[in-house]
Amino acid sequence: MSDMRTRTHLLEARNLSRTYTTGSSEVEAVKALDLQVEPGSLVVIRGRSGSGKTTLLNMLGGLDQPTTGKVLLDGEDVTAMNEPSLAELRRSKVGFIFQAFGLIPILTAAENVEVPLRLVNTKAAERRRRSRLLLDLVGLGDRVGHRPEELSGGEQQRVAIARALANEPRLLIADEPTGQLDSRTGRSIVELIAALVHSEGVAAVMATHDPAPLRIADRVIELSDGKVVSGSS
Ligand code: ADP
Ligand code: MG
Repeated sequence: MSDMRTRTHLLEARNLSRTYTTGSSEVEAVKALDLQVEPGSLVVIRGRSGSGKTTLLNMLGGLDQPTTGKVLLDGEDVTAMNEPSLAELRRSKVGFIFQAFGLIPILTAAENVEVPLRLVNTKAAERRRRSRLLLDLVGLGDRVGHRPEELSGGEQQRVAIARALANEPRLLIADEPTGQLDSRTGRSIVELIAALVHSEGVAAVMATHDPAPLRIADRVIELSDGKVVSGSS
């Protein structure tokens, strides 16, 4: 707090590395990577399969710990946190969007969006109000009672986006959110994420190998073999 300049980055990765050890072989999936993300900006991570995108995103969102280096989110050192603090961070400050949507099949769209609200003990009436609002926001106000199997892939991803926003996170982590969608639907999902970044003031880091997001990203970072090859700040 004493130094206001340290508050301008919402998210910062410093000298971040992750080595996987499997039996006797080691894979350096992310190598000495530095990254800064400003509040309310959209950063796109590109790179072919195996370049380290998922490994990086998992560390940025507190799902995985780096081998070396650190991640600072909102001024807090994520890499120094114990598991209960990490769980709290993932519940309150980070929203995740995955390629496979990850909705609970027996729950309606509205109930899926309410799941993270239940985890922080939001009262029933407020949960309902907020899930309706979020589903409206993603253009699904007329699908609140549908179950995932009654929704198209694009609609399911919209529900997942609404769910990711439920607890008003500061950061959205999206790992190939268009990977299971046709290109036109994928584009609409990317456009929705970009619009939400600007309207809700949430920052987003999105991995994709779609060319479409390049125009609307505030920054594009190209990963190759665990290293930033272009777009570093
Ligand atoms: P991307 O998301 O860009 O496809 P990943 O981060 O999934 O890349 O993978 C980066 C590298 O790390 C790949 O070589 C992959 O095989 C390896 N890798 C990923 N996850 C694991 C794991 N759990 N154990 C061992 N190696 C892994
Ligand atoms: Mg991946």
